[in-house]
Parts: sequence; C-alpha cells; structure tokens
Amino acid sequence: SAMREERIKKTKTVCTYCGVGCSFDIWTKGREILKVEPQAEAPANGISTCVKGKFGWEFVNSEERLTKPLIREAAGFREAEWDEAISLIAEKFSEIKKDHGADALGFISSSKCTNEEAYLMQKLGRAVIGTNNIDNCSRYCQTPATLGLFRTVGHGGDSGGIKDIEMSELVIGIGTNTSESHPVLSTRIKRSHKLNGQKLIVADLRKHEMAERSDLFVQPAPGTDLVWISAVSKYIIDMGWADNDFIQNRVNGFENYVESLAPFTLDYAEKLTNIPKEQIIKIAEMIHEANSVCVLWAMGVTQHSAGSDTSTAISNLMLITGNYGKPGAGTYPLRGHNNVQGASDFGSMPNRLPGYQHIEDEQVRKNFEQAWGVKLPEKIGLNNHEMVAGIHDGTLKAMYLKGEDMGIVDSNINQVHAAFEKLEFFVVQDIFLSKTAEFADVVLPASPSLEKEGTFTNTERRIQRLYQVLEPLGDSKPDWQIIQNVANSLGANWKYEHPSDIMEEAAPLAPLFAGVTYERLEGYKSLQWPVSVDGKDTPLLFTEDFPFPDGKANLFPLEWTKPVHFGKEFDIHVNNGRLLEHFHEGNMTYKAKGIASKTPNVFLEVSPELAEERGLRNGSLVRLTSPYGSVKVKCHITDRVKGKEVYLPLNDNGDAAINLLTSSYADKDTDTPAYKETMAKLEVLNTE
Ligand code: SF4
Repeated sequence: SAMREERIKKTKTVCTYCGVGCSFDIWTKGREILKVEPQAEAPANGISTCVKGKFGWEFVNSEERLTKPLIREAAGFREAEWDEAISLIAEKFSEIKKDHGADALGFISSSKCTNEEAYLMQKLGRAVIGTNNIDNCSRYCQTPATLGLFRTVGHGGDSGGIKDIEMSELVIGIGTNTSESHPVLSTRIKRSHKLNGQKLIVADLRKHEMAERSDLFVQPAPGTDLVWISAVSKYIIDMGWADNDFIQNRVNGFENYVESLAPFTLDYAEKLTNIPKEQIIKIAEMIHEANSVCVLWAMGVTQHSAGSDTSTAISNLMLITGNYGKPGAGTYPLRGHNNVQGASDFGSMPNRLPGYQHIEDEQVRKNFEQAWGVKLPEKIGLNNHEMVAGIHDGTLKAMYLKGEDMGIVDSNINQVHAAFEKLEFFVVQDIFLSKTAEFADVVLPASPSLEKEGTFTNTERRIQRLYQVLEPLGDSKPDWQIIQNVANSLGANWKYEHPSDIMEEAAPLAPLFAGVTYERLEGYKSLQWPVSVDGKDTPLLFTEDFPFPDGKANLFPLEWTKPVHFGKEFDIHVNNGRLLEHFHEGNMTYKAKGIASKTPNVFLEVSPELAEERGLRNGSLVRLTSPYGSVKVKCHITDRVKGKEVYLPLNDNGDAAINLLTSSYADKDTDTPAYKETMAKLEVLNTE
C-alpha cells in the first residue's frame, strides 16, 4: 500500500559501477534515496565507498528511464504493451531462424546484469535458439587477461583478494589508473604504502595520481609493455634470482621459456620501450627484494594488438619469481564493470559454457543437454567483434542485446552503426534509450540493479547478493524476467520465480560454483570461487596446485608484436580511459546531477611540449582525425601526458566520442579492440 511504501527502509545492495564490488545499505523512502551507508562487515570495502557508489544513484529516478516497450515505426518509436513486443520478437526470431539458421542470430549479455541474467541469456541463445553466438563486453576489456591466465595458471580471475593486494610487499600497477577506475581499491594501496611500507611501481603512459605516489614510475612507449616485462624476467633469471624451488615443483616449460627470453636484453628493451636500463634493473631488484608481489593491470595492457601476450608475460614473471599461491602475491586483472567477471563466469561467451567449461568438450555438452533437455550446438560461436563483421557480410541477421551501449563503446563506431542499420531485426534491452537503442526495432525497458535481486561477482571472484531496494519503474522489468518471457514465447517452458531458482540450476552444472547457494550468500555473506559442494570457498588460488591435469602451471614463450601504425600523417597517439566521476560512457552517471555538474564537457589532455609546438592554450579547440573518423574537443594542457601522446576520457557520447577515432584492429588472440593503439592528426581550430 501507499502507506507502507512511504516507510523508511534499509536494504543491502552491491554497487552497480566498478569491479571493486563495494556493498552497502541504502536507505529509502518510497522511491527517494535518502542515503548510502557502508557497513564494516562489507567484505570488499568495509566502511568506504567512492563518489559514484555514494552519490551516483539518481539515474534510477531519471525521467529518461524507459518505462514501456517501444516498437519502431516509420516515424520513430511508438509505445507498446509487453505482449505485443514479445510476440513480435518471437515471430521475427523464428522467421529468421527458419530462413537462415540459428547462427543468423547473435546475443550480447551485459556486465551490468546479474550472474543469473548472464546465465539465462546464454541459455536462451544456446538451448532455445541453438547458437553459440553469445558474448559480453569483457571482449572490450579483460578477455586478453583471462586468456593470459588460462595459458599459464588455469583460472581467469584475480589470484587472491583485495586483502592480498593490501598486504603485499610490492604492488606493480601496469596500465591501470586505479585511483579513478577502482577508487576504493586504490585507497587500500595508498594506505598500505603510507603506513605499512608497501612499495609501489607504476608503469603507464600517463602520470596519474598513483604514478605520482609511486616509488618508481616508468613511462614505456605505447604498446611495449611486453618488452620491459620480459626484460625484467630475463634479468632476474640471469642474476640467479628466480625461485628455483617453485619452478621445479610447480611449473612446466622453464627451458623453453628461458630460450624465448634471449632477445629481451636490457639494451634491446631500452631501445624499444624508452625506459632507461637502470629503471628496468631497479624493477627487477625491487621484485627480488620483496617477499610478496602483486601485479595489477587493466585496459592499458589488454586493449592492444598483443593484449593477451602482455597479460601472459605478466603471469610468466610472477611464476618464475614464485609469486603465486601465497598471501599477498599473484596476478590481478582489475575488472571494470561490477559484473564483468560474472558475465563470463556464467557462460556468456561464444566458446565456454558456465564455469568456463569448453563448448567443444562432448562430456560437458552432455551434462548441459541432460539438464536442459535439448541438443546443443557444437561449433564455437561468434564473439561480438565477429558479429559486427557477420552483419556486414550478411550472415548475421538479428541481434538481441541487453544493457550494453555497443554503438558507443565498441571501437570504430561509424562502422558499427552501419552494421546496426543493416540488421534485419534488432532488439535492445536497457534502462535508457541508449545510442545503440536508437537503431533498434524493438526496445525493451529493463530494471537497474536497485530494482531486482540476484548476485554479482567482483574482481576478486567474490559472489555477493543484492536485494531489491525499489519496485521496477513503470512497466520496466528485471532482465531475467524479460529473457524468460522471450524464451517462453519461443516455445521454452521456463518457470523461474526468483533468481535463486536460476542459481539452483546453474551452480551444480559448473564445478567452479558447485556450492553456491543463496543461503550461503545471505546479507553480507559472500563466496569467492571456486566453491566446493560443501560451501568452502577459495579466497586465495593456487595454494596447492594449478588446475591442470598434472597440477603444474605453464610458462608460455612469447614474441613481441609491434603495435599498429595508421601511417605517417597520423602522428598523435590518442590514449583513452576513465574519469573518477563518470562510469564508462557515462549513461548512468550523467543522469546523476550532483556528478554531472562536476565534470561538464570532455577535454583533451595535451602535453606542454605539444602545446608549445602547435601554439595551443587551455581551452583551444582542436580536431583529431584518424582514418576512421574525427572528433572536436577543447584542450587542457598538463604534464600528466608527454610528447605527442594525448589523453581523451571516454565519457562522451557526442562529438568527442573516442570511438569515432578507434580502428577495427584487435588483439590477435581474442579480438579485443586495440583501443590503445589509436593514432590521429591534430588540427587547431581556434586558440581562444
Ligand atoms: Fe562502486 Fe567501485 Fe566506487 Fe566501490 S569503488 S563505490 S564498487 S564505483
């Protein structure tokens, strides 16, 4: 009743923004959010939050929220009832499947949605339609890290928890702007650094806050991280500092690895990376002196044509120094979205079923076929990069995409928009009419995290429950309900009444999550996977063995791949990334007024050298042009960047959208776009 609705209540939730996975109580009165109150028992954050978790919730009551399904008509969209929208989807999907086969359809999950929703989306694609064309936006960020870890240590997640990062003697951050992208985690590092003598090395193009606080800051030339990391490995081995016991007992492939390091001498590394030899030696010494080392990395490593190889090189280095399986050590690819880990964990991948079980493994398929009562497609599906190509070459005809503004966040968006226009039928499910939704034939109104139940998995593999804070706005619905309605209209007979029913089905099918139950996740309780049937979880991986048949990890030999060059005239390297106040492209944070007003327009960071060379001042307007498009943006001169490297934050979806410039070049092993290998020419429009 209205009376009851107006009562003040307190509900536990998990932050919808970044992968740190802060949890807290939210106090509400009706739809009004009174305050966010972190609790000491929150496993990832305790009593801390950042500006986004604390003040970033106004978007749930935004007037721009979608509250009705929309159907495209000649003149634009018209509102529709759910029945009509779902019937239309069923009719079109069936028709396209009949005419062109199941592989003419593609499905994109969301890293903002719950584990249960990631599970259902892939089940819809695989079991109801019959295709493995299913992916999620980790393809844009950490898939290369996942592959690098699969190659070497066998689990695609952080080796330990935030606690381990906190207690580590040496933290190395590579290509991660931790204080803006993972704020609460960065405060842990800052505290340990200040109070406990923790050492910090930062390798980045840009002198951000963590770089300024570090004990050693190195600025490699773009795309050369693999070279200095391998040179550090070589130097450590040459000096006799490798952990021979660890290598002998727990690692395969040492001889081949040592051979592969031959080219990575200090001279070669200095020449390619521009990092002085002395600094490379210093890094090796600091690793040698520390009893525990953690490496943190993010998009600065992965979004390259050799993002997987560089991630692998990091893991190799941790293996030869014995920095796995002990407290305070290991590899930590920091997950961007709150549930990007879970989207892959629960099977929204073209090659893996839930729990990273391979689709080509017959026994695995059999287990799922038995549980789902269907025959499953065997062939690895298309990833989202290949889906765009598939649309262009006419093989992919329809797409169902939820909670992902692919038309902004994919690279080379002019070409992505052209693909959307070619689709025969396009369904977009979101909380707002995103740029991507503007291309849709049917738009379905979804509910954000505060309006549903489920679980999220943070960067440290920690599964946490969120409880419903608000009723879904208007006719919007939680994604799991919408997917179920679509599935059932296509002839399935799903009967999930609550997300816990979905977890009850999923957990026993995936050994990684065998013991995950809602009861074990009640309130602030959480579990870090793998979770055994009896409910024992694994805060620290690899303490006894690595998940390979012989229990040993594998060193993986590598060669360096040159970053992409667009041609001589494109002489400016355009780095890109986040700002603290905004999440990603900003489609939620721009709708929180307190946040939006603090950072009005996107700006381009330009070095003092470049400013001098081109006669630029603060506020000068420039045009950047790449072979793929151009953006107009005002300059901000700062020594955070150097030489011809500029930095463009990615929270703009208009004239200064970074992906108007980025290319379709991608990591050679995973198809993750090489966002960080973008070159442009710079024209000065005015110097006011
Ligand atoms: Fe949310 Fe990340 Fe900020 Fe924590 S650090 S409150 S998870 S955005």
